[in-house]
Amino acid sequence: MNKLLYTFLLLLLSSHAQAALNVFACEPEWAALTQQLAGDKASIYTATGALQDPHRVEARPSLIAKARSAQLLVCTGAELEIGWMPVVLRESGNSTIQPGSSGHFEAAQYVTMLEVPTRLDRSEGDVHAAGNPHIQTDARNFLPVAEALSKRLIQLDPANTAYYQQQYAAFNQQWRVAIARWEKQAAPLKNIPIIVQHQGFPYLNNWLGLKQVAELEPKPGMEPSAAYLGSVLNELQQHPARMVLRAAYQDERSSEWIAERAHIPAVVVPFSVGGTPQATDLFTMFDDTIQRLLAGLK
Ligand SMILES: [Zn+2]
Repeated sequence: MNKLLYTFLLLLLSSHAQAALNVFACEPEWAALTQQLAGDKASIYTATGALQDPHRVEARPSLIAKARSAQLLVCTGAELEIGWMPVVLRESGNSTIQPGSSGHFEAAQYVTMLEVPTRLDRSEGDVHAAGNPHIQTDARNFLPVAEALSKRLIQLDPANTAYYQQQYAAFNQQWRVAIARWEKQAAPLKNIPIIVQHQGFPYLNNWLGLKQVAELEPKPGMEPSAAYLGSVLNELQQHPARMVLRAAYQDERSSEWIAERAHIPAVVVPFSVGGTPQATDLFTMFDDTIQRLLAGLK
């Protein structure tokens, strides 16, 4: 009996020693990447859903409570979360996840940013000093982010170094194969003129060669008026587009309005993991994005 009890205690102790790293992910794509790299070594909380506007999130008490117990925060950065993250960080009182500490990880710091303004004017809408924050629409951006995130996991949890290295090597290899496949599939999208609802796709355009001719928001984050949409419709006569693109979380009205009048399809892409029923992980998120874009050409 004593021996049994002893074994039980040992089990308890060892399971405690292997307690998973508490991760607070701001957006589902970073939760998914952390999952790929950390497997069961991390317990991941995702602060927002793919059907939620990541620019506009309420700093709810439940988010603050999760941030309080987090050991690692994984966010986009580049001011995407500027409307809510500073409050969550301050109210959490958690020193390990504050900016500059090893528990604070911003993906945007590891990729080449697009649309970095030369002059910052907040009256121009959701304009970010660090550039456009929607980096997750270019699959190539996940390579440097994964490398940096893997190193961070090792730094925070050195006991599992070998495991993290193995996970990263597997992801890196599979992801490179997948990128080559996506680029091949997406070849017909090159130089296709598109309209976007929100300025959310410069990285996707840059990657696949789509040519953006207009956006429906007069300023980033601002809903267009009927008059503004009418002017975009007029412009389309000079610069026709093949489809109008929006992220799953966005309101459908303005893109459906244009699609109907310009006789082009409105294409919804997942934008994050969970944005469409097909986008269940990072791989299927890009599979589905490309399938939907290709369907828009037909
Ligand atoms: Zn945006």
